[in-house]
Amino acid sequence: MKSVEPEVYLVAKPELDLDEVARYLGDVGGEAWLERLDRGDLDEALNDPQTLAEFAGRLCYRSWEPGLNPNVTRVRTDQTDYLQNILRSLHGSVLEHVSFSFVLHNVSRVLTHELVRHRPGVAISQESLRYVRLQDLPFWFPEWAQEDPELMKRAGALLEQMEEFQGWMAGHFGLDDEGVPFKEKKHKTSFMRRFAPEGVGTGLVWTANVRTLRHTLESRTAEGAEEEIRLVFNKIGEVMRKEAPALFGDYEVDDGAWTPRWRKV
Ligand SMILES: Cc1cc2nc3c(=O)[nH]c(=O)nc-3n(C[C@H](O)[C@H](O)[C@H](O)COP(=O)(O)OP(=O)(O)OC[C@H]3O[C@@H](n4cnc5c(N)ncnc54)[C@H](O)[C@@H]3O)c2cc1C
Repeated sequence: MKSVEPEVYLVAKPELDLDEVARYLGDVGGEAWLERLDRGDLDEALNDPQTLAEFAGRLCYRSWEPGLNPNVTRVRTDQTDYLQNILRSLHGSVLEHVSFSFVLHNVSRVLTHELVRHRPGVAISQESLRYVRLQDLPFWFPEWAQEDPELMKRAGALLEQMEEFQGWMAGHFGLDDEGVPFKEKKHKTSFMRRFAPEGVGTGLVWTANVRTLRHTLESRTAEGAEEEIRLVFNKIGEVMRKEAPALFGDYEVDDGAWTPRWRKV
């Protein structure tokens, strides 16, 4: 048994192609907006994910600068103000352009099963325990469990027995013998995983757009949510607040529960 901690890695985020943005803006007369970026007039938190959301929002009303659309006589120039107005006015579809990819590592199948219930705005690639043979059983124990010696002793013994059984089955089925076809290995590996606990540490790549991230951050850190997913989403929340403060700065965090000022954007 290998004692592990659920980990969050942010592996990808949007990057703007400013040349293409400029080419488009040249066509609609919105170059002044881009020049603002060049002069660094936008707030210090300026970054590509936020700028992409701003870009998508401004395209809707051609609000690159006053007068381009005769109906628009004033525009917000501060990016944080602009994006907060997007959140306030529930213009959530522009947030769907901005996706972040995470590796959630050493998370249990308890967590992954709950996570996949969130459907729109996500992409998922999960480690296949049909293909990947379990050798050790990575397992997370929350702090309160670690402080209970009798629980840890019994849990450790049970996990070791399960681990030993995995090894025994692999030998019994001759999975490492010369010439065993991969099809047979896959068949037996899938059978063997049935004897792993639901808490076994595994992983996935989870990509979600900002609209989905905002919703799942709230629901999966709520007081009633499961403790491992709460832990992981608190980590995701911290990452997002750093990466896109104008899109995640409206949350109040109270005892690990993230509550947005503007819900259901
Ligand atoms: C604390 C907690 C306890 C839970 N307990 C259980 C349980 O006991 N049993 C169980 O089965 N599940 C349980 N769930 C899962 C829950 O029922 C949802 O399936 C899950 O949280 C996904 O959230 P969502 O429904 O908001 O959908 P998401 O897929 O995250 O979608 C986001 C939003 O998009 C809209 N949307 C998405 N799909 C549709 C659609 N098909 N039609 C219309 N609108 C849509 C909805 O407005 C939805 O809120 C629990 C969740 C939590 C947080």
